[in-house]
Amino acid sequence: MPLPFRTAIQQIGGYVPGEQPQATGWIKLNTNENPYPPSPKVVEAIQNAATGRLNVYPDPMARSFRKAAAALFDVDPDCILPANGSDENLTILMRSFCDAGDAIVYPYPSYVLYETLAKIQGCDVRRLHLNDQLNWDAGEATDLCRSAKLTFVPNPNSPTGNCWTPDELEQLLPDDGLLILDEAYGDFANTPHRGELLKQPRFHQRMVVTRTLSKSYSLAGLRFGFSIADEQLTQGMQKVKDSYNCDAIAIAAATAAIEDQDWMLENRGRILATRQRMAAELPKLGFVALPSQANFLWTTHSSGRHKDIYEGLKQQQILVRYMQFSGKSADAEGLEGLRITVGTDAEIDRLLQALETTISRL
Ligand code: PMP
Repeated sequence: MPLPFRTAIQQIGGYVPGEQPQATGWIKLNTNENPYPPSPKVVEAIQNAATGRLNVYPDPMARSFRKAAAALFDVDPDCILPANGSDENLTILMRSFCDAGDAIVYPYPSYVLYETLAKIQGCDVRRLHLNDQLNWDAGEATDLCRSAKLTFVPNPNSPTGNCWTPDELEQLLPDDGLLILDEAYGDFANTPHRGELLKQPRFHQRMVVTRTLSKSYSLAGLRFGFSIADEQLTQGMQKVKDSYNCDAIAIAAATAAIEDQDWMLENRGRILATRQRMAAELPKLGFVALPSQANFLWTTHSSGRHKDIYEGLKQQQILVRYMQFSGKSADAEGLEGLRITVGTDAEIDRLLQALETTISRL
């Protein structure tokens, strides 16, 4: 007898997250984590929360975090919606705004989780293909987005690492829907993003910004993200979230993390310096690395043997992300390459050595 899944669930393969080996000894450059530890104040907050009142439910509104995030982003705490990782914010958005049959748009290549979440909701997915300059055609963008319910766009984009301008982003606004600006990598941009576009009249009430503590705050293991939007939009989304979607330990840790900007900025500085070094070294090994405003580099190799390079590194306990994206039509060329997270300098030294060995054996 077939299992009683909804049709939409039967039809999707499901999102496949990056590899997360649980053994030690790996150099992980595959899922854009921060190689540095979180602030000591975060560890202290976790210890205090763990010896606190874990027998009672956490604050359903995560008020300490909302207050701290609101101060940082210069908005009212009622504009902040914390969640169990920004992936949960994306789920909340989808469930709040999309009925089955509604359309969502996202640039391609980009974060394919948007597509999976939309399909679970029974939505139509429209891919806005990027050209060689990593841009979309303005006319096509308007055509696809105008009647969409939600447009999702990471800025900086993943896996390509580029940023789009406010005028370009404006082309993605649905007429009667919302633009979701995914600022997962916003702190690594040349001019760090602070959700300022929300304050521009053309975007106000038409945009939701999502942020994560997984990258710039070194807290991927904690699971904490949040959205920033107009109070009324945020209030509506609260109806959709689980009552206690963030636990007491995570709320305490995330609050301490966001209050320690010095720590975050110091790590950001280190990552940007290493990114620059990688961008200089990789071409010497036959790679083209796109200019990046994120904590990773999108690279292609002159040999075209990306899968083999990925495998060769894996044999040396180094993980990078091999990625393949289909072209606009069946006969159009797709995109294939390696997305490499910026690690510590020592990790990148190991990577460069391992690449040299791997490439010499191709
Ligand atoms: N958006 C983008 C573009 C990402 O790359 C990621 C990380 N995979 C996320 C959102 C989700 O981040 P998290 O759920 O860890 O907050």
